[in-house]
Amino acid sequence: MKLVVETNPLTCPFCHQANYCSNNENRACWCFNTKVPQELIELLPNSVINKSCICSKCVDNFRESPSLFKSTYSPQ
Ligand SMILES: [Zn+2]
Repeated sequence: MKLVVETNPLTCPFCHQANYCSNNENRACWCFNTKVPQELIELLPNSVINKSCICSKCVDNFRESPSLFKSTYSPQ
C-alpha cells in the first residue's frame, strides 16, 4: 500500500481514518498525552508532520509490531 500524501488534519496520514484529534477545536488532543514513537513520525513525509495527527490505532499497531507496520505503510 502506498502512502498517499495529503494534509487533511482530520484524518490519520497512515490509515486515512478519522484521527479524532481535538487540536483543531483548541483543546488538548489525546495525542499530547501519548508518546508517539519518533520512528513512527519519521515514516511520514515532512509535508504532513505537525499537520495531520496519527490516530491512536496506528500508534498501537506500530508499538505492537514496528516491522509489520513499516512493511504496510512505508514506501519501499
Ligand atoms: Zn491511523
